Amino acid sequence: MTRITVAKGDGIGPEIMDATLAIIKAAGAQIEIDEIEVGEKVYLAGNTAGIAPEAWDTIRKNKIFLKAPITTPQGGGYKSLNVTTRKFLGLYANVRPCMSLHPFVSTKHPIMDLVIVRENEEDLYAGIEHQQTDEVVQCLKLISRPGCEKIVRYAFEYAKQQNRKKVTCFTKDNIMKQTDGLFHQVFDEIAKDYPEIENEHWIIDIGAAKMADTPEAFDVIVMPNLYGDVLSDVAAQITGSVGLAGSANIGEECAMFEAIHGSAPRRAGQNVANPSGLLQGAIMMLNHIGQTGVAEKVQNAWLKTLEEGIHTYDIFKEGTSKRKVSTTEFAEAVIANLGSQPSLLKSVSYANSSALQLPKYQRKNAAKKTLVGVDVFVHWGGSDANALADKVRQIEHSGLQLSMITNRGIKVWPDGFRETFCTDHWRCRFKPREGNEMKKTNILTLLEKANDQNIDTIKTENLYAFDGKAAYSLGQGQ
Ligand code: NAD
Repeated sequence: MTRITVAKGDGIGPEIMDATLAIIKAAGAQIEIDEIEVGEKVYLAGNTAGIAPEAWDTIRKNKIFLKAPITTPQGGGYKSLNVTTRKFLGLYANVRPCMSLHPFVSTKHPIMDLVIVRENEEDLYAGIEHQQTDEVVQCLKLISRPGCEKIVRYAFEYAKQQNRKKVTCFTKDNIMKQTDGLFHQVFDEIAKDYPEIENEHWIIDIGAAKMADTPEAFDVIVMPNLYGDVLSDVAAQITGSVGLAGSANIGEECAMFEAIHGSAPRRAGQNVANPSGLLQGAIMMLNHIGQTGVAEKVQNAWLKTLEEGIHTYDIFKEGTSKRKVSTTEFAEAVIANLGSQPSLLKSVSYANSSALQLPKYQRKNAAKKTLVGVDVFVHWGGSDANALADKVRQIEHSGLQLSMITNRGIKVWPDGFRETFCTDHWRCRFKPREGNEMKKTNILTLLEKANDQNIDTIKTENLYAFDGKAAYSLGQGQ
């Protein structure tokens, strides 16, 4: 018996959760349930996180959380409960299988069967954003070695367990050489531990185009958070419906399972929603807690039901479908099929599908880190980079001199182009003078002088070399 936490959520949430629980209990799931309240009501009661502190206690005690979609109220100030839960609980891997059910569910991609493994904790989702000047706001993209190693290893271990043949990595490391570059580098390193599994890397733009056009070319795809967020919805949609896909959010201790779709408020309370997405989440949960026999029984009954043309409105199609059913009727049909196998769709076997046991991340030896310069960001309303250079060079001192100015990344001094459009957000790069060693105090002196000269510095970014290798981007055009 496993004690799990359940949240019925908002909109169609309670209906699809009731259907899902009815199915898995009828299949023999050995679960005890603690129900918690999350979502709209909790937000509107003044809790900006959408969850009460006592509910966290239950989630952390039980470690396994089955969650229906919630509605985030309109208007500012509400934090995404999903993002908070994933990060608080360290749920680093988001696993979303996307499979076509041709010819029973209409799709342009009849032989699609891929799994998106999305990094779930970092990237632009750190939510660290600032307005720095009148014209410019920034969002910090954080990619860590542990984050990359954990997710990439998860993808390969998942592929190995599920007998999948290939792991593909999507990044944009031709542009983001440090952040996406690290993700790609770690992918190449870890791929070497799995010689039996094919590996490849695609630049995300053409990779995404290929996935939307020829999804059968892919098997497991691993990617950073934002790309995975977008592309897992694309992948689910092109199988026929976002209403069919579930997702697992896996951490070292805790795990959360859900449907990928939202709370569909316009369909709420009508007993029409498709419970399949949440049911798929629940099946992944059963596998995760070792109840693989029950998971297998439910999945085969679900496939059989779809094959029989018993469809909710979202996938109902004249000609292919046989009977348009409500949420509860669909659940009853799946329950009636428990113990049956699909005839045309491939039946599943989950004998080897329980939670993956991954090694803990081992921190590497620290590299030799050398300070080699500083970028000072300046808010300045002028437009002539040469004029800014003249102003900024007044704060040069015996330790540091101005080496470059960029605007939105493109070099504008020295030798900028008159045509380059400039905002009020300038990066002034200072390097030590020939033969001088760089010290942190050089930066303090620089900032003091800038303050004296009324130069509006908005932030600094230290430039480092790690083991002698420059670890910062050049100016575009430098
Ligand atoms: P949505 O996924 O709720 O709905 C998109 C479309 O798909 C709608 O036409 C809807 O009717 C349909 N749909 C979704 N699930 C369905 C199902 N199971 N059966 C039949 N049809 C289904 O997305 P949205 O309308 O953009 O968002 C609605 C709310 O859900 C928002 O408040 C949003 O913040 C929230 N949301 C929550 C989650 C979550 O809790 N995991 C995820 C996404 C969106």
